[in-house]
Amino acid sequence: MNFIETRGNDGSRPSSVSFSQAILSPMSSFGGIYVPESLPELGEAFLRAHLDSDYKTLARAVLDAFGLDIEPAVIARALDLYDGFDDPAHPVPVVRVRQDLFVTELYHGPTRAFKDMALQPFGVILSSLAQARDEQYLILAATSGDTGPATLETFKDRANVKVACLYPDGGTSDVQRLQMVTEDAANLKVIGIHGDFDDAQSALKTLLSSDTFRARLRERHTHLSAANSVNFGRIIFQQIYHIHSYLELVRQAAITIGDKVYLNVPSGNFGNALGGYYAMKMGLPVEKILISSNSNNVLTELIRSGRYDLRDRKVIATSSPAMDILKSSNVERVLYDLFGAQRTRELMAELDEKKVYRLTGEELDSLQAVFTADYADDAEVDAYIRDTFRDDGYLMDPHTATCFKAHASCRDTPLPSIVYSTAEWTKFSPTIAHALTGEDDRHDIDALKSISATASTPIPPMIEALFDRPVVQDTIVDKQDIEREVLAFI
Ligand SMILES: *Cc1c(COP(=O)(O)O)cnc(C)c1O
Repeated sequence: MNFIETRGNDGSRPSSVSFSQAILSPMSSFGGIYVPESLPELGEAFLRAHLDSDYKTLARAVLDAFGLDIEPAVIARALDLYDGFDDPAHPVPVVRVRQDLFVTELYHGPTRAFKDMALQPFGVILSSLAQARDEQYLILAATSGDTGPATLETFKDRANVKVACLYPDGGTSDVQRLQMVTEDAANLKVIGIHGDFDDAQSALKTLLSSDTFRARLRERHTHLSAANSVNFGRIIFQQIYHIHSYLELVRQAAITIGDKVYLNVPSGNFGNALGGYYAMKMGLPVEKILISSNSNNVLTELIRSGRYDLRDRKVIATSSPAMDILKSSNVERVLYDLFGAQRTRELMAELDEKKVYRLTGEELDSLQAVFTADYADDAEVDAYIRDTFRDDGYLMDPHTATCFKAHASCRDTPLPSIVYSTAEWTKFSPTIAHALTGEDDRHDIDALKSISATASTPIPPMIEALFDRPVVQDTIVDKQDIEREVLAFI
């Protein structure tokens, strides 16, 4: 299967590329992104055939259906990374929290957030491709907290790939910062910057457009790639767990094959939700996809009114920071799928130039045939965490909690909904401790102990160990010094 561009082709690039090309250099014509030329048809027969498959077997079958230009042995090694999750036989547990509400826990990997679901296998694939081509790659990442640790962890000591990761000093949780600054490998560089996440991101953009920087990379025979969720190498792995969750509901006798369900996705850059959308297009019986947001509710507005409007918006810092996003990159792939390349290019140009686009009534109808949306503010998130623990005995993180609002408000029929839990409670512990006990802990370690005592849940060993690990990445610089640091590193 080949990959084509969401904004059409400019004539100077190949009009379609292989999977490996799309993931090694993910930027395409007119600033667009790559999408599969077509989607495989899986359907009910596929679901029946995989009713008893374990996660890796199902994953291999989904990847096979895409016909990727990756050696089967490399795919097998990539999927073996799921053996490092808490329970290798069940890397992605699906927990029944209420009669009609299931939670798929996507956070049982090494960095305790859903980013591991895709980045763990992606690291093996990218590094193998680079080795096969005898090329060196640099991955630059700016993180607000979860992408950084997961990117570093997957590329640690992998051949032919280096990672430089920028984070806002003081802008992440203690656990997230420790996950980065204690990573000890010669191919990893972690750089704290004075400023917030927007500063880190704009510093990264400046670096990517710097001529001296690009010239220096060429001198060093180093190619740039990206590990963010516009890279289809991540999306490909984010379709599998939607199909797996559905099969789990069948196995738990909550539905029979063919019954419809709601998927309920806490969304930021829309990679997780896009995986659900593709799964639905491939034949998964889905009634609708619920898009859950926090107070940065651009997606709620888009899905309700057809308007994507950034004119009077500034990012609001919330208790679910991984969703503090206004420009949600993967929405573009849905626009392309529904309205085609020419319209996508038009809409994205309007967003760039006027900071707003509007769908027609007909376009909005087709969007609403698939999606519905709601958002929860921090006070509501706090209440959902507290009440769900009190009433259902279930402990969840603030991103997951936004889904409980949409579960209550967005379903037209009482079909079961699958909520995707994107982080373990350990990653956002001060918010959760506050929700459970009302206390305000400044440091994660105090909050972790308090939650552990209140909920009678042990702190996972890999989180506890972080606090004793030596800090080996201690670079903290001003924005203008980043280029020098990165060049010195490579
Ligand atoms: C990245 C992330 C999200 C958002 O996922 P998208 O695929 O970008 O929509 C939600 N919650 C957590 C904890 C995350 O790390």
